[in-house]
Order: sequence, then C-alpha cells, then structure tokens
Amino acid sequence: MLSNLKLQPQDKILQLIQMFREDPRDTKIDLGVGVYKDANGLTPVMRAIKSAEQQLWQSETTKSYTGLAGEPAYQDAMIGLVLGAAVPRNRIAAAASVGGTGAIRQALELVRMASPDATIWISNPTWPNHPSIIKYLGMKMAEYRYFDADSGAVDFDGMCEDLAQAKAGDVILLHGCCHNPTGANLNMTQWSEVVRILQATGATPFIDIAYQGFGDGLEEDAAATRLVASSVPECLIAASCSKNFGIYRERTGILMAIGETAASQPVTQANLAFLNRQNFSFPPDHGARLVTMILTDDTLRTEWQTELEQVRLGMLSLRTQLADALRVASGSDRFGFLAQHRGMFSRLGTTPEMVEKLRAEHGIYMVSDSRMNIAGLNARTIPILAKAIIDCGI
Ligand code: PMP
Repeated sequence: MLSNLKLQPQDKILQLIQMFREDPRDTKIDLGVGVYKDANGLTPVMRAIKSAEQQLWQSETTKSYTGLAGEPAYQDAMIGLVLGAAVPRNRIAAAASVGGTGAIRQALELVRMASPDATIWISNPTWPNHPSIIKYLGMKMAEYRYFDADSGAVDFDGMCEDLAQAKAGDVILLHGCCHNPTGANLNMTQWSEVVRILQATGATPFIDIAYQGFGDGLEEDAAATRLVASSVPECLIAASCSKNFGIYRERTGILMAIGETAASQPVTQANLAFLNRQNFSFPPDHGARLVTMILTDDTLRTEWQTELEQVRLGMLSLRTQLADALRVASGSDRFGFLAQHRGMFSRLGTTPEMVEKLRAEHGIYMVSDSRMNIAGLNARTIPILAKAIIDCGI
C-alpha cells in the first residue's frame, strides 16, 4: 500500500531553511522563514505568556478533555479581540482550532458541506497554504489580482474588476491585515469598496487574520474585519494566535462563522463541533487557555499589549531603515513602498533569477517570489541588504 505513494512537492521555505543552515558564509541573512525574530535573531516566548504559564501551572487541576469546540471563555475572548462589538454575539458560531491553518481548513470544509460547488476566490499572490488546501479538498478556485509589482502597492482596480465576477454563493478569501506574502494592504476607503462588491455580488467573505497587532495596532488591524463582518449577512473568519501571542507550536486558532440571524447559530455551531470531531476530536487547549488568561486579566493583557506594541514598532522601524538605506543606495524613491507595507513581510517585486542571485552572490535568503521577512533584519544587516539589492541591479 505505502509503495503506491508518490513524493509530495517539497515545501520551498523548508528547503530554504536547509540551504541557509548549510551556507558557511558568516555574512548570510535569513529573510525566508515566517516567524518573528528579535534583534538577536531569536523568537522569544512573550513575557505575558510566561506569566500566564506560571499561573496556569499553579492553578490547573485537570487536563481532562475540553469541549469539542474548545472552551466558551476562549471563544468569547477571541471574538472580543477580533470583532469587538461589531457583530451581535448570538449570530457568531465559533470553534477552537489547530492553529490558524486548522481554522482555514475547517472553514473550507464547512463551505464544502454547505455549498460544494462554491468557487473560492484567492488573491494572487496569497499564502501558498490557501490554494494548497483548497485543491486538496477538491474545491473550485479562482484568483483575483492583488499586487502591482511596479508600485509595490495593491492593484486595486484589478482586484475590484476580478471580484465583481464572483457569484452569489462564492467565497472570497481576504487577508484581514498584513497581507502575506506582499505586505501591501487596502486602506479603509478601499475596504468599503470591497464591502460594496460583496453586497452587490452576494459572495461570502472569508477573512484570514493571522497578524493582528503586527501592522498598525491591535484595534486598527481588526478594523477591516469588523467593517466587513458587520456589513454582510454571512462571514467566515479564521484567526491565528501563533504570531501575536508568539505561540506558534501550541497550535492556537479559532474559526468564527457569522450567520444572518441568531436563529441559524445553533446549527452552525453544531456543524463546527462536528467538523472538529471528524478531524481531530478535541482541539488543543494549552495555548487557548493562555490566550484566554491574557485577554481576560488586566495585568497580563497590559503586559502582552506592551510587548506586542514593541514588536510592531520594531518591525516598522526596520522598514523605515531599509527604505532609507535603499533611497540612499539607489538615489531614488522606488523602494519607498517598503515603508508603506505592513506586517512581517514585504514583497520586493523582483524575479526568481534575481532572488537566486542575491542568495548565490550575497548569501541573502528570501522566498523565490521575493518575499522578505522584515523581522529577519537588524541594524547591522540592513545596509548589507540594501547594497546587495543595488549591486544585483534590482
Ligand atoms: N494565514 C496566514 C496568511 C499565515 O501567514 C499564517 C501563518 N503562516 C496562518 C494563516 C496560520 O498560521 P498558524 O497555523 O501557524 O496559526
């Protein structure tokens, strides 16, 4: 039986990590992998997480199963964080998931159960796991234009033109903030236009929000999600706690499914629990419990928000420093978009050949689509990167 299996395509980022490890140059720079790193290249456990873990160790009396959809307190805390009071609580079904990826997978399975012929619209480009899971589930997929490589900004006209082709019953996958891989995002006026298109087409938005607090601030980064969710009858949201709580390996996420009225909520909720049951039964609880403790305790929450804000401002400063260094090195403002981008990533907007040249000649590692992890930079490496970009003729 096992001999029937074929090799699966290797994950490009994991390949890149391996090549980076094997590169002997001490000037090498890793901008590939998608985790936050501080100035020392470390991905630390956040202080509030450490404090919550200490408290939990003292107070936890059982590790018996949680609920199939996770703990109601976790659902409430996360609904509060992502949606605030934008949507009445009684319209929202929610289930804890295995990371944000698990929430995406469950959301798509829910769509497939409810509407097997739905087309899922994804941005071009998007996080590669999106098309990969959609294809694996055998669902229909279409792309909408998103990035304009020349300006480094969103191709908003192209995006609107494509989204207007969506049909009622289709699902439009949107990044709530900090678009991965481009770093280019819509402003609120543009989000209002997206809402208008959603209303006109009758397509259902599905928002993936994995970087709340990494862009313009916790509330600011949730504004688009709240606007969309409060403006349409139905909305799906997959949220991840991996980045903003720094708990990548705890696998903490949540799926929210908002129905038109409160009457449909119990059925949706039962379907979310059913899907968890089919896939893994009970969701992981450790990370979800830490998140709940932090979000519901004033001291822990303040500690968390303070550190998250430091992380956010640190990345913003790296962006400005890189854009400045490139302005000096190129004698032009053509890389100014890097300071406008938000989140952990920016797409430089160059060819795979140039990305390979940066790696071969300068030991700079980024994904072949020219996505850079801004958090992989520091004050020492920024001038090296800027010089390499210009030396390569980008
Ligand atoms: N969506 C996007 C766009 C992401 O970049 C990520 C993390 N790489 C996720 C969702 C989910 O991450 P996780 O499963 O680790 O929570």
